[in-house]
Amino acid sequence: MKNRVFWDYTAFGTNLGGSRDLVYGNGEDNKRAIIVKKKGTSKRRKLFRIGVNGEIEFEEDELKTIRGFKRGKDYIEVVCGITTKYYGDYVGRLKINNKGEYCINCECYPGCSSENKTLEEFEKHAFKEGSGRWKSNIWVHYEDEDRVPLWRTPLMKYYTHQANVANWIDSAMRKRNYHRDEFLRCTNCNKERRFRLKSRLDIKKYHQAFNNHSWTCSLWPYQKISCDYVEERPSLRASRGCPRLSTCRGCTNCYCEGCIKCRFEDCNCRECRDFMLYAEP
Ligand SMILES: [Zn+2]
Ligand SMILES: [Zn+2]
Ligand SMILES: [Zn+2]
Ligand SMILES: [Zn+2]
Ligand SMILES: [Zn+2]
Repeated sequence: MKNRVFWDYTAFGTNLGGSRDLVYGNGEDNKRAIIVKKKGTSKRRKLFRIGVNGEIEFEEDELKTIRGFKRGKDYIEVVCGITTKYYGDYVGRLKINNKGEYCINCECYPGCSSENKTLEEFEKHAFKEGSGRWKSNIWVHYEDEDRVPLWRTPLMKYYTHQANVANWIDSAMRKRNYHRDEFLRCTNCNKERRFRLKSRLDIKKYHQAFNNHSWTCSLWPYQKISCDYVEERPSLRASRGCPRLSTCRGCTNCYCEGCIKCRFEDCNCRECRDFMLYAEP
């Protein structure tokens, strides 16, 4: 049992199905995981062990040298903080529960009422506005080293987007990263219809349509149309709205391989599941 790391999606209270297909281990299982990796678009990180009860098994050996380490019944806790230029250190306690949810209780002064803050909220609390760089801004102390940023510690390995939607959903809504227009072909008339992917909601509508293998014109989200409605001319269709070159067929400015704006915590498709569980925070 020691070398096996596996996922049980049901541990995250999401409707991800009873899938046990992302198994890391030896032999057959391992081969399968590698195939999955090639197909997926998001980068895979090796994460943590899940026990038979569906809960995270913390590796206490690598955590207990962090100052203030405390093992609760269903969580671990350490002392953490943020250093600010004018106000000095904001100290708090970072808690990770066995579902992988991160929260911070601030202790910047006796009686600070900031409890159960997400990482971004804690950052905002200290800086007044969130910079979204909590991985570097929030630190912990080791016995022999002070202020080690979270990203350099094993604490990060328990973080998934799936378990921490509250931490990023606001910034996902605001994120400006560009997604070019996409076309979808009607399964009835074979015409291509344009989708403009400006907001996260737009992208979600497109994503759902894309995953619907019997999608037809009548489901186009912008206006009520039928298959009789004229298709865009080929010259117009060549433009996907790339900010660099109108006829671009996909570049780093306009094509996204997966980000929190175009992957969805409540979607069951492989791309979304992979992103929510494995993408770097
Ligand atoms: Zn505080
Ligand atoms: Zn049609
Ligand atoms: Zn482009
Ligand atoms: Zn994206
Ligand atoms: Zn999806």
